[in-house]
Amino acid sequence: MAEADGRTLGDEEVAAAERVIRSGMLNSVWGVEARALEHEVAEMYGMRHAIACSSGTAALHLAVVAAAPDPGDEIITTPITDFGTVAPILAQNAVPVFADVDPSDGNLDPDAVAKLIGPRTRAIMAVHLFGAAARVDELRVLADAHGLALIEDCAQAWLTELPAGGTGPRPAGTVGDVACLSLQQWKHITCGDGGLTLTDDAELARRMRLFSDKGWDRAAGRSHAAFGLNYRMTELQAAVARAQLAKLPGVVAARRRTAQELLAALEGLPGLRLPRPEGHAWWLFPVVLPGGQAPELAEHLRQAGIPARAGYLNEPLNHAPVWNGPVYGASRYPLEGYAPRPCPEAERLVAETLLVIDWNENYTPDHVHLIAQEMTKFRARP
Ligand SMILES: *Cc1c(COP(=O)(O)O)cnc(C)c1O
Repeated sequence: MAEADGRTLGDEEVAAAERVIRSGMLNSVWGVEARALEHEVAEMYGMRHAIACSSGTAALHLAVVAAAPDPGDEIITTPITDFGTVAPILAQNAVPVFADVDPSDGNLDPDAVAKLIGPRTRAIMAVHLFGAAARVDELRVLADAHGLALIEDCAQAWLTELPAGGTGPRPAGTVGDVACLSLQQWKHITCGDGGLTLTDDAELARRMRLFSDKGWDRAAGRSHAAFGLNYRMTELQAAVARAQLAKLPGVVAARRRTAQELLAALEGLPGLRLPRPEGHAWWLFPVVLPGGQAPELAEHLRQAGIPARAGYLNEPLNHAPVWNGPVYGASRYPLEGYAPRPCPEAERLVAETLLVIDWNENYTPDHVHLIAQEMTKFRARP
């Protein structure tokens, strides 16, 4: 299959970049684009504060800073995610505790999370994996019962919808204390690299803004109020992101339309567990093969020219080599004596049962037809 190009970069982004360059101001401290992007994203999500920063990983670092773990505190998260979810935990000298996932979609299992909450737990970081809503309402109840922060990693979940609450539809990212978005090249929308955090809490917003700008309260002269780094988004990134943001609803709608077509075409095919479409934003199209065989199916699809991978990761993050070595210099702090917990469901998904098919807004019915045909052929093999 000629791989459909999933990007929506065009004249609008060229005009945005040109506007910034011609203005002569590329830095967001003195520019207008990043502040405008923050305003537009906050409005789209119905949140009070948005903070633009340099990447999704930076956004997650800001979220961990907002949760303010003491060194050695624990943050519970999922072993099936991008390492950008986990690196910020270590960066704040906190300890990641991996909870197992729901075998139907790879999202955090709230019962597994509940069992791991202890005296050092400070926060829960949920990831809306591949664009499917994680069970954040249940995690919110847990977090509130134990006085924990809840962080939502929405890097793969632009405009994912949560199951309707009392007040109607809500996007993923509106239940946690802080939500994080990514604008990296292969996310729903992009400015190459970029990130945003969302929160309704003015104090958390202040803490994140300070950290993203070297602890520099710009209203207070040249004075540094707290530890921080430089995670500022540039005006070029922000202007391109604004042009992309305008296209986001169309991008998600197109992905939903073709994903529904594939779901319909695969319905009833034995040995496949199809994703639940409700609210899904289809960053990827995941399929679970409860009997194993995901690696074989991935190979079959690749031979037919369809971009698909088994397992998503080489190994779930609780098995990443990073846990075996030092963290800072020769020191293992804060991981002395640390061994990540086994997560049997995540391990089985990654090794045997999970298949992800690349998805994007430019897929056509022909792409869908070819994928369905090859999956059916694989299933019909003796
Ligand atoms: C992409 C991604 C990140 C990291 O975002 P970057 O912008 O690449 O730093 C974090 N979490 C998840 C779930 C992601 O998909």
